[in-house]
Parts: sequence; C-alpha cells; structure tokens
Amino acid sequence: MIFSKTNFSMMMNSRTRSLADGLLRGDRSSLSRSITLVESTLSSHCAEANALLEYVLGAKGGRTDSFRLGVAGPPGAGKSTFIESLGKKLCKDQGKRVAVIAVDPSSSRTGGSILGDKTRMTELAKEPLAYVRPSPTRGTLGGLAQHTNDVILLCEASGYEIIIVETVGLGQSEVMVDETVDMLLLLTPPAAGDELQAVKKGIMEVADMVVVNKADGDLVNAARHAATDYMHALQLMRRKHPSWRPRVKMCSSLHNQKIDEVWGVVDKFRTAMKDELVERRRLQNLRWMWSQFKEQLVAVAKEDPGVIRTAHQMETELLQGKSTPRIAAASLVQHFLENRK
Ligand code: GDP
Repeated sequence: MIFSKTNFSMMMNSRTRSLADGLLRGDRSSLSRSITLVESTLSSHCAEANALLEYVLGAKGGRTDSFRLGVAGPPGAGKSTFIESLGKKLCKDQGKRVAVIAVDPSSSRTGGSILGDKTRMTELAKEPLAYVRPSPTRGTLGGLAQHTNDVILLCEASGYEIIIVETVGLGQSEVMVDETVDMLLLLTPPAAGDELQAVKKGIMEVADMVVVNKADGDLVNAARHAATDYMHALQLMRRKHPSWRPRVKMCSSLHNQKIDEVWGVVDKFRTAMKDELVERRRLQNLRWMWSQFKEQLVAVAKEDPGVIRTAHQMETELLQGKSTPRIAAASLVQHFLENRK
C-alpha cells in the first residue's frame, strides 16, 4: 500500500493563492495577512492555512539557509531594546532581511500581555528590510508555540534570512521557544543574588548564550558581577550541544554598545553548529508533528457526538466519586474509536 500525504494546496481558493503569491514576492501586507490566517483558530480557516503553507513550502523548495534566533529574558531585561538595536545593525550594516516575532505566555492566562501591549520596536519596524510582528493575544502557550513554527516558515518563504523569536523567560515559554529556534540567547539585566537564581533556573539549561544587558553607567559593575556569576554557573551545567560551549557577553542595547560582539558569538555558533543544526531542525519538526497530531486529534474527538455524550456521563461519575480521570479518559477514547469502526 502506498501512503501519500493529503494535497492541501490543490484545494486552495483564489484569494489564498494571491495571498501566497504576494508573500513569495516579499510583500509585507500579504505576509501579515498570511500569518493571521495560520494563527486563526476558526476551523474554516484551517484548510486554507494548510493549503497556503504547503504551497509556499513547495515554491521555496524547503529552503533552510535562514537562521532562527530565540531571545528570552525576564520582563524589563531590555529584550525589545536589544532586538531593535541588533535588528537595525543587521539591516543597515549587513543588508540582511530580519523578521521579529513574539511568543507571549502571559496572554493565555491573564488575557493581558507582557510582550504585546507596549509599542514595540517602532524604529526597526520602519526599516525596509525588517518585519516586526506583534505577538498574538490569544491561545495557550503550546498553541502559540505551534503557530510560531508556521509563522517562521512564512517569514522565511517571504525572504527573511534572520528570524528573531522573542519570549519572556518565565518557566515553560523559553523551553518551548527553544524547540522552534536554532539558538537561544538569554538576555538578563545586571541582577545579583536571589534575582539571578530565579532567572538561572531552567533557562540556563537551554541557553546557548547569556547576554548581560544594561552594562552602562552605574550598572557596569553589577553587570560584570552578573556575567562572572553566569560564567561560573554555565561551567557547572551539562552541555546542551557537544560542539558548543555556551558563552557570556555584556552589552548596552540602549547605547548600542558591544552588540557587534554579541552577534560575533552568534556567527561562531552558526559555524560550529552547521551540521548539528540540520539534525536539530529535523528532530524539532518530528516533535512538533506529534504535538500537532495530538492537538488536532483532540480537536476532532471533542466534536464527536459520542465522545460529548460520554463526557457528560463521566462528569457525573467523577463528581460522585464513581470514576477517576484516568478511567474516564479511557472510556472517552474507547467510545471515540468504536464510533469510527
Ligand atoms: P523588555 O521588557 O525585556 O522588552 O525590556 P525593554 O526593552 O522594554 O526595556 C525595559 C527598560 O530598560 C526600558 O526603560 C529601556 O529603556 C531600558 N533599557 C533597555 N536596554 C537598556 C540598556 O542597555 N541600558 C539601560 N541603562 N537601560 C536599558
């Protein structure tokens, strides 16, 4: 038996087709509208989004010469200021096309947003070679990160070579972002003691580079201390990649100081990791495939009338202590599968 994947792009309507063609030409407004389409949770948009993704992927022939940089850090560390400063340098000095997208874990829980509320990177957004996408304001963190994969692909298909993914380093979000990027940079303020401990936890294990920002004026000494502290902490960590030893740098994003040095390290990482990155993207794609499979399967199952009926019944049994979540879930799976025979 020959298995073939569904050909979504054959079913694409003419509006989506012209959107896709605009995106491939590098048109920003087509890119923005395409991103809105893939981020949409409406089921009627899903098929068009799949068609669009498949079409642009086919047209670009699976281009892989882009670089995906994650920038994580606590609120107020200076992520926007840093990305703006770095982005402008890359556009102006190196003629690179840079796209910035954000994954904001706060929005799913509070309805508010840590990353999206302020006016962001207005200067960079004016650069002809740059594209700044504000963070989506709805959805679960998992969902947002799932979409981030697709958004990255769309940006790459639209000709952006450097994709910067920004996130707040508050637990799971940076780990999730690490699953979508080639390199993860942790940006921290010059903090010490307990503050530093909180930042260190978790993220240090996934960071490929730590940058202590705000190394200017009265903060220079504190920045040096923090940098030394990070260096010691990194020496004790298990290596994330065999070919890369995580580095620590200081910079001042506000005054555009030592941003070149930070980028120098990113370049070194790209060179050292050239072969490993191909394998890394392959594994990331595999993991996201299963994660998307789970999400899509659950969405289908939750609409199944048999599952809905059983869920009502299970709810009562759970309340009465006659069932456990595990047994209830097993019953749902059984009903779902039986309805499909
Ligand atoms: P984010 O929340 O991490 O995106 O942080 P922002 O980029 O919004 O910056 C938070 C505050 O720190 C702002 O008032 C910035 O002006 C300030 N800031 C950012 N980078 C630097 C820096 O390099 N030096 C100093 N002194 N302040 C900075």
